[in-house]
Amino acid sequence: MPPSPSPDRYALVGHPVDHSRSPLIHQLFAKQTGQNLTYTLIDALPEQFETAVRGFGAAGGRGLNVTLPHKEAAFALCATHGPEASLAGAVNTISISGKDLHGDNTDGIGFIRDLTVNHECAIAGRRILLLGAGGAARGIVGPILGEAPKSLLIANRTLERAEALRRDFGSLGEASVCRFDELGDLDPFDIVINATSAGLHGVAPPFPASLVNRSSFCYDLAYSLKPTPFVGWATASGAGTAVQGWGMLVEQAAESFAIWRGSRPDTRSILDTLLRATGGNASLTD
Ligand code: NAP
Repeated sequence: MPPSPSPDRYALVGHPVDHSRSPLIHQLFAKQTGQNLTYTLIDALPEQFETAVRGFGAAGGRGLNVTLPHKEAAFALCATHGPEASLAGAVNTISISGKDLHGDNTDGIGFIRDLTVNHECAIAGRRILLLGAGGAARGIVGPILGEAPKSLLIANRTLERAEALRRDFGSLGEASVCRFDELGDLDPFDIVINATSAGLHGVAPPFPASLVNRSSFCYDLAYSLKPTPFVGWATASGAGTAVQGWGMLVEQAAESFAIWRGSRPDTRSILDTLLRATGGNASLTD
């Protein structure tokens, strides 16, 4: 009998990565689609990022997911890019072929699919507030504008990064920008999206409660076994619905898997399994 081929190797690179459920998700995808692969975690500081990526490729690795704070560095490192990555200027999926690195961005499609299909929350014609202007925000601004919202306001701690997003995505639609401390006197938004990483440090910036009401849908890109600080803020502020980004995590991973392996897993059953494995704490809807 011929020896079974060794598994293809994939990994997530970021800092920190110890909270990640991506290995579990990709194992579930591999089992569902009958594929032979491993998926591990690589913790790399910004100064270690390029060496970590090149070293993984030299050791035979086939692909990497990239998480904070490296998505923009990953874009710079890849020689070629898919259209979503080119638009975003950020890469969360690297395909490795010899020394060639190709970058894609699946965050946008994963976010839109989770929000509009899994949560049945339409973007068209709605007033949207996006908090944050980092790599993840870069991945979702284009797809949000593509859904024709009534308006999009991007607020960020560092105004220049929000302005860069408005400028870079201007051809897709209009957005306005402000700092967090300018959010005080605004009417409640239909959809409030948290794309800051503040929650990783256990805090929610002091957003005014007036940003939401019972009609507001609040979406935290971050995910945790406990309610995230942003979900806690949204619930305490009276938002009708507040969810974590577990569904986006699974949907963007499924798109990465499809790029690497040529088949897209069924995400609904995987999301259900993941939510059971994590205690089901993915959605707080009153
Ligand atoms: P990033 O590129 O490092 O950007 C971080 C963002 O958070 C920036 O806008 C930054 O503002 C802001 N920020 C950081 N600390 C802050 C604080 N204490 N107060 C206010 N703002 C703060 O990170 P990223 O890749 O965009 O990731 C952002 C979040 O999205 C993370 O929690 C990540 O886990 C999550 N995410 C989830 C998924 C998913 O599938 N569910 C996918 C992608 C990302 P400045 O510009 O002022 O520094």
